[in-house]
Amino acid sequence: MPIKTNDPSKKSWISVDSNSDFPIQNIPFGVFLTRDDIITIGTRIGNYAIDLGALHQLGYFDGIPLTDDIFLQDSLNDFISDGKKTWRLVRNRISEIFDINNSALQNNEEHKKIVLFTMEEVEMQLPVLIGDYTDFYSSKEHATNVGTMFRDPANALMPNWLHIPVGYHGRSSTIIPSGTPVHRPNGQTLPKGAETPVFGPSRLVDFELETAFITTDANVLGEPIPIEEAEDYIFGMVVFNDWSARDIQKWEYVPLGPFLAKNFASSISPWIVTLDALEPYRTESPVQEPTPLPYLQQKGSKSFDINLEVDITPENGEPTTVSKSNFKYMYWTMAQQLTHHTINGCKVNSGDMMGSGTISGPTPDSYGSMLELSWQGTKPVPLANGETRKFIEDNDTVTLRGFCIKDGVRIGFGEVSTKLLPAVTIK
Ligand code: MN
Repeated sequence: MPIKTNDPSKKSWISVDSNSDFPIQNIPFGVFLTRDDIITIGTRIGNYAIDLGALHQLGYFDGIPLTDDIFLQDSLNDFISDGKKTWRLVRNRISEIFDINNSALQNNEEHKKIVLFTMEEVEMQLPVLIGDYTDFYSSKEHATNVGTMFRDPANALMPNWLHIPVGYHGRSSTIIPSGTPVHRPNGQTLPKGAETPVFGPSRLVDFELETAFITTDANVLGEPIPIEEAEDYIFGMVVFNDWSARDIQKWEYVPLGPFLAKNFASSISPWIVTLDALEPYRTESPVQEPTPLPYLQQKGSKSFDINLEVDITPENGEPTTVSKSNFKYMYWTMAQQLTHHTINGCKVNSGDMMGSGTISGPTPDSYGSMLELSWQGTKPVPLANGETRKFIEDNDTVTLRGFCIKDGVRIGFGEVSTKLLPAVTIK
């Protein structure tokens, strides 16, 4: 079935700023609370949230096999379970309804009042009920930087790194939508030179510039997903800030990997941008040398040209963009990650989320964490207000953005923005 929604010449009767992330070619999916306190599944064009539950009740999806309540839900999981064919049918129909040449809804003031909300009128929620969350470690530049700092510059990459998309199982209960503030975590750390740990607020709170993909039901237990099918099971992507406490991480991570340093919060952008919408922005991923094992070998253009940016905004201050990276720097692709994840028979469900790992580029201004940008605190990062940052300070707001631009069409994720609050006091 063709993707009819990507035509760059297509225009909507909803006016869209040229620098908006949400032209009619995007049609992302999200969940929001309306001005009447009703939770619904929706999409977005320009600065308008569109209530898909209401559109469905009014008959605008007639002819597409959908259950009556598919959009009247507090998560996208059931819709995602309907599969790629249905996602495409629904996005194609939305593209038709809001096309500038279609007057049906455009000229129906009564329906428009029910269906359209300005973004100021809605409150975005988590788009999916995330059953399982996995985080990969798939940027070669990031893994090399961290290995150089923590181990040995000559052997920065572990011997497995070029053969396996390395990952770990995270915790889904602490994944939160943009706008939800986060407290600085308390925990155990080992001060420099000390032999016993101390307890207290982490002093090295960091962001991780990541993206994440959301899957549909992919397989039964015991059945791997072949690499050439893997993308069919990816619903879409979000921008993802995987908050990290570097001092807690350093003390706890041997031998079983990150634990409390990572599971106090991870923030996501609320609109899931589909792989179909990203199709025009496909690009090559880095050459893989040595050649991966056969089950991980993938043909064609496997990555996407997604610009990624990070701002730090101190309280009462202006934002400073501290990093500009790109998804295309990722060494391992999403398909390779998903195939590797299931090669042992591990089952993947609708609404599972897989983080990319910190996405650092080749130059110091493209590093995806403060750990790298300040090189473990040795190179403080200047802010616009004259202050500097080695790591994130209390009441700073960290904002991640992602967007693609090609042929005059910009498609983006909006942002994930999170304020870091002081630690809670533990008696
Ligand atoms: Mn991470």
